[in-house]
Amino acid sequence: MSRRSGNMKRVLSRLFKERQIYHRSDGVVHFISMSAKTQVALAIVVLAALLWVAYSSVNVVFKEQIIVAKERERLVMQTNLSKRLHEAQKAYDDVNYLNNTIERQFDETMDDIWSRHRMLANMVERKAEIDQTLNSQAEALSAAGGPNGQKPSNGNRVMVDVIPGEPTPRQSRMSVLRKEAAAEASIRKPVAEEDGLAAESIEMMEKAAADLYLEQMLLLASVEEKATQQIAELRQVINSTGVSSESLVTPAKISNVVLAQGGPFIEPNAMSGEPVRFYQHANRTATIIDELEDVKKAIRHMPLSSPLTVTRRFTSGFGVRRDPINGRHSSHHGIDFAAPWASPVTATGAGIVKFAGTRSGWGRMVEIDHGNGFVTRYAHMSRISVKAGQKVDLHSKVGELGSSGRSTGPHVHYEVLFKKRPVNPRRFIEAGRYVFES
Ligand SMILES: [Zn+2]
Repeated sequence: MSRRSGNMKRVLSRLFKERQIYHRSDGVVHFISMSAKTQVALAIVVLAALLWVAYSSVNVVFKEQIIVAKERERLVMQTNLSKRLHEAQKAYDDVNYLNNTIERQFDETMDDIWSRHRMLANMVERKAEIDQTLNSQAEALSAAGGPNGQKPSNGNRVMVDVIPGEPTPRQSRMSVLRKEAAAEASIRKPVAEEDGLAAESIEMMEKAAADLYLEQMLLLASVEEKATQQIAELRQVINSTGVSSESLVTPAKISNVVLAQGGPFIEPNAMSGEPVRFYQHANRTATIIDELEDVKKAIRHMPLSSPLTVTRRFTSGFGVRRDPINGRHSSHHGIDFAAPWASPVTATGAGIVKFAGTRSGWGRMVEIDHGNGFVTRYAHMSRISVKAGQKVDLHSKVGELGSSGRSTGPHVHYEVLFKKRPVNPRRFIEAGRYVFES
């Protein structure tokens, strides 16, 4: 250490020996003496000046490069920033897109559910209206009772025995529906391939929608089943009068296959994701309800009651009999009921009074047109209480029991005509006793 500093001192003292600088001017010699210290200080100053000049020169010379480098650095930073901004925007857009997708899918699903619900509600409502009309008619008919006023044995409701047209048991029918609805639901896939949360929420929604879809299918199937059963019962009631129900109401033509019987599965339109099966089924059910409505109307216009609702006695049947006046065999085109004088004679079904007055042999009589080719006649009355053209309901009073015309005692002669031909009224009254459950 001391050796090195000794060396340094030696080098410095060799470099900066005391020097004298001479110069002559006007013949006079001057000299300046410079100590080693002064020389060192001067050297430092000169060195510093040189360094500064060098630095300044470098700065000037490389100014452009420095600016370019700084600019490049700024650009890199800016690019990074905008990249990050872009990423954030994209993330936001993705979330937004997912939200929109989920929302749109939710809206579409809800629309589907609602449109099916409206169809179902409409059908259920229509069927309820039909049931209400039928029930009130059934109650009135049931209150009037059979030809002798007898009530149905089973309370006031008698179920018509209908040979089940549906061989598939309900349980398997439901399982078929379940399978079909599940198959259809599996075809309905989310529109976009989403991941994570979105996929999960869409899946949950799809599952809930599929469950609801199945419920709606089952409800639809049950409406259809009940309506079909009712049509069969009502047709049987009509047929039991001897008039074919097909001649009154043409059975609905249903083109698509019967679901419950496991017809070929119609592939729903997978592109639109529309649950086609429901609408096919709903169309068919709507057609069935139309038919039920028509059958109900037909039944409403049929004379299914007795012309007397008071206590009466069935005295004479339809067909060939011994004439009570001349004793000869002749045909009796109606049936006779005996009851106390002036008992109210009532319409056996809704209709319009076609004739009200006296007719030879019939005495005071009323004729009612029920539509669909049905006409009823009430004869030998003591009094008439309606006018031609008047609208009457089931059990509206048309007159009072008497013995006018060709009659041996107080009774009402009652006829039913279908397309102008007399038919047996007793079969209609018997048919009217069948009160149906909905
Ligand atoms: Zn008679």
